[in-house]
Amino acid sequence: MRYEGRIYRPPSEANSYILQATIGCSWNHCTYCDMYRDKQFRVRDAGATLEDIALAGSAYGERVDKVFVADGDALVMTLDQWEPILRACHETFPRLRRVSAYATARNLLEKSPAELKQLREWGLSLLYIGPESGDDVTLKRIAKGGTFDEHVEAAARAREADMKLSAIFLLGAGGVERSAEHAEGSAKLAGAMDPRFVSCLTLTVVPGTPIAKLEDSGRFELPDIYGLLGELRTFVDQTRPTDAIFRTNHASNYLPLAGRLPRDREKIVDVLDAALSGEIPLRPEWSRGL
Ligand code: SF4
Repeated sequence: MRYEGRIYRPPSEANSYILQATIGCSWNHCTYCDMYRDKQFRVRDAGATLEDIALAGSAYGERVDKVFVADGDALVMTLDQWEPILRACHETFPRLRRVSAYATARNLLEKSPAELKQLREWGLSLLYIGPESGDDVTLKRIAKGGTFDEHVEAAARAREADMKLSAIFLLGAGGVERSAEHAEGSAKLAGAMDPRFVSCLTLTVVPGTPIAKLEDSGRFELPDIYGLLGELRTFVDQTRPTDAIFRTNHASNYLPLAGRLPRDREKIVDVLDAALSGEIPLRPEWSRGL
């Protein structure tokens, strides 16, 4: 298929057809993110997007059961822009059972409850949202563009529209200075957002990003491996979603974990304690990815 620049997708979309309906991220300010810095945000020409769907239909038609709409916050598109895309996906892929996209709290709050319900009816059923932290000080420092309360409100709107949410938190985002507040606040926010899926990634400081400049000047310090695992332990131990599928299978993490929270909380905490005491090997630095 035809893509512009590097394409990012969540690990759980590895077998999905990736449709690039937008280029870049409409926000593009998060201090740790270098994914779309080289792209000026725009919604792709509708004709080209629909052509891509038709091409994918000819090549894979029956085999596509999931579509992920890229790039960084595709929910920002208007309903007029979404409608032909979602209709074409459903007409082209007979086995389609899920369409998903990345979203920000801002994207969700900019849409009315009726608009979100309409998108759900057209088939947009899963949103990946990355508050990264539940600590308002950290959220401000990383320029996430949304507060704890705004993320709770955004999640409530998605749930009201019957969209599933996958919430992503970023170990290390608060640095050494806000490590405890970041871990505790994130646990609290994951409970308050009450997503179907929750995952934790580990911050990698990428050269050239604003957070790398802060690190170079001594104003940001990433916790060490044990500090990061300690944040994960706090998160798992304290968060209280109703019933969330939990994963740390992203390549950035030192310890891949999976389970349901809060059901498997004690088991996962035991594994983390074993890792913290050196009984379980961690993913070597060389095999980690962004
Ligand atoms: S909203 Fe997502 S894609 Fe956009 S800058 Fe922030 S982390 Fe990057």
